Amino acid sequence: MKIGILSQFPELYSTKRLQEACIARGHEAEIINIANCYMNINSVKPTIHQEGVELTGFDAVIPRIHAKVTFYGCSVVRQFEMMGVYAANDSIAISRSRDKLTALQLLSRKGIGMPVTGFASKPGDIPDLINMVGGAPLVIKLLEGTQGIGVVLADTKKAAESVIEAFFGLKANIMVQEFIKEANGSDIRCFVVGDKVVAAMKRQGPEGDFRSNLHLGGHGETIKITPLERKTAVAAVKAMGLVVGGVDILRSERGPLVLEVNSAPGLEGIEKTTGIDVATPIIELIERNALSKRQR
Ligand code: ADP
Repeated sequence: MKIGILSQFPELYSTKRLQEACIARGHEAEIINIANCYMNINSVKPTIHQEGVELTGFDAVIPRIHAKVTFYGCSVVRQFEMMGVYAANDSIAISRSRDKLTALQLLSRKGIGMPVTGFASKPGDIPDLINMVGGAPLVIKLLEGTQGIGVVLADTKKAAESVIEAFFGLKANIMVQEFIKEANGSDIRCFVVGDKVVAAMKRQGPEGDFRSNLHLGGHGETIKITPLERKTAVAAVKAMGLVVGGVDILRSERGPLVLEVNSAPGLEGIEKTTGIDVATPIIELIERNALSKRQR
């Protein structure tokens, strides 16, 4: 097969590992920088071009769309879909999971555990919003934030009100969330491919930080997850309509709570922590799905 890896970062560990795994399984792999793609949208033969050359012959693409280019990236993925190319995460599922609020609403519909979350737009509703999530301490999150940036812990009701008011003043979309204290600054990243968790790690934040993001100085550790955590992670990826996803779970007194589902989970942290190859299962999934799509 000819597989396109849609990434702006050819030098990134994740991109290189996916390319290696494609080649190791006997496929042709091409890294496509979505920023250089432009499209001809028509009803006869939709196409994608790059520097004057039409991209042809692709059987499948692996979208690795960075949060900063979600809109353009998803439009390129969608164009591949219009051309009949299988996408290992389709454009609609990527858009859904990128919006933290939409993602939680979809998870709630499926009865998947999550921290109680509130969303409002009027300053007058702040006191009731804080009560809804169980009062302080609570977590305030920018809807557009990633890698822990824009996630704030407010220790008191007064601090929460001030921070929420400040965000409202800046016209930023925020959600307010119950603080899961017993998670102790750690969470579990489950790497899901199809209907399996292929690897999982515990991420522990640096001393004094409630956020466990590796980009903020957190570190990964191996961990054995429970059957319920496994089931929750797979269900969360399915609820988004994704086939590959990184599910972040908090261990709470009332069981696993999903924070978010990442449509382009990093390979480096999880492979280096667990020693598990997570790239090959993605290529194997593409082999199964792209082939059955072609037969249909
Ligand atoms: P981002 O998408 O920016 O990584 P997250 O919602 O995943 O934002 O939050 C970043 C980190 O903060 C999480 O990995 C987790 O360690 C911590 N965290 C987030 N929400 C909560 C919460 N409600 N209770 C306790 N810790 C939380």
